[in-house]
Amino acid sequence: MSSSKPIPPSINHSPLAHVGRIVAIASGKGGVGKSTTTVNLAHALTHAGNRVGILDADIYGPSIPRMLQLDTNLRPEMVDGQMIPPISYGIRAMSIGLVMGEQAAILRAPMITKALVQMLRLTRWGTAEEPLDYLLIDMPPGTGDINLSLAQNVKLDGAMIVTTPQEVSVMDARKALHAMRKLGVAILGVIENMSYFTDPAGTRHALFGTGGGKKLASEEGVNFLGEIAVDTALGIAADTGAIPEKQALLPYISIANLLKH
Ligand code: ADP
Repeated sequence: MSSSKPIPPSINHSPLAHVGRIVAIASGKGGVGKSTTTVNLAHALTHAGNRVGILDADIYGPSIPRMLQLDTNLRPEMVDGQMIPPISYGIRAMSIGLVMGEQAAILRAPMITKALVQMLRLTRWGTAEEPLDYLLIDMPPGTGDINLSLAQNVKLDGAMIVTTPQEVSVMDARKALHAMRKLGVAILGVIENMSYFTDPAGTRHALFGTGGGKKLASEEGVNFLGEIAVDTALGIAADTGAIPEKQALLPYISIANLLKH
């Protein structure tokens, strides 16, 4: 006899050992600066004395290894059945790019999900002596199956939504926000990236329009966490895997301070 009842999703929200708050960084579209935000937020949190980890789950463009200068030819070391995350600038990082290389983008969702869940649950993020304060998850852009499965396999303490001011980005960011909310994840707020560019004469140019992020936050009744300018220092740091100079990190330091509350 066959049953037409839908199979209930399997939820595993048991805590990760020695991991404090788990925060997803999500966006509607790719290319809006989600990974840049994740890494720089990690730098800001580390700078403030926290122990931080990043899970790079962005299968379409796992860019965390480049941003943290991790060698993608090295597979994570295994000890007692656990993966030991490489540490760069004090940040413990695991990337789908380190585990699967470039094939991640062409594998089927269940296989990728399985790998991501293993990376979440079988990585030694922290120990009793050195627990992790924050685990940031660089989510795949959009609202696909992998996002859903990740949220079902780890209890997220909250999500930050990254968008540019452009309407096309905001539209998709709203969908990502709604998807997170539907999954019961608290929305910590909206970050607007690439808000403006200041030319050498000090004039601000709104390259992609203005106010999209703030409008999204106010319409959805969530916090607006801040604007991040287009800053060549951020682009260069991302490409070379360096820490941006302090001035460029300031907006992330403000956002990191908001995370404490
Ligand atoms: P996503 O993770 O959303 O796909 P990335 O973080 O990889 O986006 O950013 C896309 C590109 O834009 C990268 O080359 C990155 O260096 C650049 N970038 C992102 N944010 C900024 C910014 N505020 N100023 C300058 N360049 C930025």
